Amino acid sequence: GKVLVTGANGFIAMWVVKALLDQGYLVRGTVRSPSKAKHVREVFSCYGDKFEAVIVEDITKPGAFDEYVKDVDAIEHTASPFHAKADDPDELIVPAVQGTTRILESALAHGTNVKRVAITSSVAAVLQIQATPHVFTEADWNDASIVEVREKGVQASQGGKYCASKTLAEKAAWEFVEKNKGKLGWDLVALNPPYVFGPAIHEVDAPEVLNESLRDWFFTVFKGSKTKEQLSSMGSCWVDVRDLAEAHVLAIKKQDAGGERIIVSAGTFKWQDIVDVAHKFYPNVSPMDETYDPKTATHIIQYNTEKAAQLLGIKYRSMEEDTKDIVEDFKAKGWI
Ligand code: NDP
Repeated sequence: GKVLVTGANGFIAMWVVKALLDQGYLVRGTVRSPSKAKHVREVFSCYGDKFEAVIVEDITKPGAFDEYVKDVDAIEHTASPFHAKADDPDELIVPAVQGTTRILESALAHGTNVKRVAITSSVAAVLQIQATPHVFTEADWNDASIVEVREKGVQASQGGKYCASKTLAEKAAWEFVEKNKGKLGWDLVALNPPYVFGPAIHEVDAPEVLNESLRDWFFTVFKGSKTKEQLSSMGSCWVDVRDLAEAHVLAIKKQDAGGERIIVSAGTFKWQDIVDVAHKFYPNVSPMDETYDPKTATHIIQYNTEKAAQLLGIKYRSMEEDTKDIVEDFKAKGWI
């Protein structure tokens, strides 16, 4: 089969493309410019003509994907802005929502062979800020972020703006499917990962320009960007990028996944846990909090991952393996 991957040059998407190619799929990846196409073509040149990169300059433009969905069997839509530099929330919301809508419109109008569309949503579309520990499921929606952005506009928190973009984009996808019921030759899967970590095979020439989650990782673990107190109190849930890539492949393979949103998470962490593990592989990490005891850490946000286990059957890499491979990667890049 042939799969279209949007935003193919991104941190997660590069691993999705690789996983698909390794499992025998033909892949067409979209990127925004010829210079970005050049790097992805180089990385995947060893797969010969099984990989092709095409340019979609503006994913919000009507018909943007029309040409590229015509001969594909499935779509993985990953392209969406993830950064904490937006003033106007629409900088994130417009490409997130319209990009999602455009790919679905093209799939409806021209995706004759398309059987499945998987979108990379996020737990940003699931979680609610809580005062006490809570286990979230796929039944939960981050409506609070939409309210925050509606009420505060440019004054909304960066987290709120990003969460709203992901929540609105995923909602738009399910609404599109509902509205076009009976007309679609495909069904939808939304994958909802937390913080994604792992080695980077996308184009990145300095830690400062890493994607959001890995940049946080790099500066927290090696550059002391968090205080001792923050290291042992701040955290969330995480997943290895290669496991998430495998989930993307399974999301287009598994019949029963159709119509589902699926949380894909390896578990909870505090940054101190990661610093401790990284220290096993590299001596010069951020100062460690000797008093930290992982057994007494409180994890406010937790996820029930039964659905992913049942429908996709994912096995997760350990924090040990994930961390070791990131450290090796950063060493190889000459950043540490
Ligand atoms: P990257 O920043 O590495 O990749 C983002 C991709 O989206 C790039 O291909 C980028 O293209 C594209 N993109 C960004 N803004 C736009 C825009 N305005 N128009 C068109 N394309 C755009 O991040 P990730 O790989 O981490 O993110 C990929 C997806 O995963 C996103 O949907 C993100 O929300 C989601 N996600 C990420 C998590 C994480 O921890 N990393 C956690 C949960 C979900 P370009 O290079 O041209 O800017």
